[in-house]
Amino acid sequence: TLFLDRIDAANPALNAFITVDREGALAAAHAADERIAAGRAGPLTGIPLAHKDVFCTEGVLTTCGSKMLGNFVSPYDAHVVTLLKNAGAVGLGKTNMDEFAMGSSNENSHFGPARNPWDTARIPGGSSGGSAVAVAARLAPIATGTDTGGSVRQPAAMTGVTGIKPTYGVCSRYGMVAYASSLDQAGAFGASAADCAALLTAMAGFDERDSTSLERPAEDYARDLDKPLTGLRIGLPKEFFGPGMADDVRAAVDAALAEYRKLGATTVEVSLPNAKLAIPAYYVIAPAEASSNLSRFDGVRYGHRAAEYGDLADMYQKSRAQGFGAEVKRRILVGTYVLSHGYYDAYYLKAQKLRRLIAQDFQAAFQHCDVIAGPTSPTTAWAIGEKSEDPVQMYLSDIYTIAVNLAGLPGLSHPAGFGAGDLPVGLQLIGDYFAEGRLLNAAHRFQ
Ligand code: GLN
Repeated sequence: TLFLDRIDAANPALNAFITVDREGALAAAHAADERIAAGRAGPLTGIPLAHKDVFCTEGVLTTCGSKMLGNFVSPYDAHVVTLLKNAGAVGLGKTNMDEFAMGSSNENSHFGPARNPWDTARIPGGSSGGSAVAVAARLAPIATGTDTGGSVRQPAAMTGVTGIKPTYGVCSRYGMVAYASSLDQAGAFGASAADCAALLTAMAGFDERDSTSLERPAEDYARDLDKPLTGLRIGLPKEFFGPGMADDVRAAVDAALAEYRKLGATTVEVSLPNAKLAIPAYYVIAPAEASSNLSRFDGVRYGHRAAEYGDLADMYQKSRAQGFGAEVKRRILVGTYVLSHGYYDAYYLKAQKLRRLIAQDFQAAFQHCDVIAGPTSPTTAWAIGEKSEDPVQMYLSDIYTIAVNLAGLPGLSHPAGFGAGDLPVGLQLIGDYFAEGRLLNAAHRFQ
């Protein structure tokens, strides 16, 4: 009950959890005790964890941060949830998030923003803000998240914890409410790289119910944690170190890189010439996929249905008008526009071509280095309300994370000291496909 009691005490101020599953957690903890007594414990047996509210959990509310799913109790578990249950982890509840994972600050949640434990007047980052807050405030030792354009790495940076998004296809998307399917990937939050490694090891694995799930042998992501960093070549993309990065973030990132050199790594300048096109490409591709994915919320089968309506079309319209928030509607509109006849070639097809160029840039860079490093976010956590009226400012805050999703690469953010006002700064490490072990190794040696 230690963590449940901590949640009871801290959640009113932090709003990290949308649902606390006290009964389920106690039952699972009991079952874990029996497993341990019987000598059948696994690495996560009895370890409490929190799930982002985007993962379907059987019998427990799954809202995705939306009024649309405000009453939705899933009849099944997401694959990731099943794997973690099988590993003996104890689910504490479901964490706050931007509605349908669309956002960078958690302010788009129907349930109000989660708050940054370092300064509760500030955002915790998003969209997986609640999970990051839960780990940062020690309301849960580990938590799941999802990362479509930075939603694990950016809130990890803002709250001073470690977060990893694996290579696209490593974790099954089955039962993860879809935002932009070609970019969505589950990820892990922990207070350390070692905790993330243990969580990711249990979350990863082939699942035939997700057609993009990769069939690969199981991997122990903790295997290489202690390997020395001697000779590790860290690439520094010159585009990531230009103007745009706040001075305090730059100072913390530079200090972290100096520390890596002390640990035996070398740094080399690399270039990602098309990285600046990542945001425009993303804000065509992600809304396009979202507009298609979110068409399922029609008020017929599950989710919110308007109380009063005329004919069927009117029911769809009213249910969707009432169920979705402003940012979700904006993205559906952009998505249907870029996919519509006459505009498809001009926007969607162009964005797909940019996506390929961005992926090729990374491959060229990895000819000269083993991992790429830079800031996770151009600034530390901003004040609640500061950017919420300006979507473009909000979108620009993901400048360093989005290219990684477009390329499908693994990325990690680990704490790299503090900026002005004692707010955490994150360092992002990007690896080639399936280099999760190497990213975790570097972060672990650093810590
Ligand atoms: N902030 C980005 C967006 O709003 C990324 C979100 C995410 O990774 N889920 O789409």
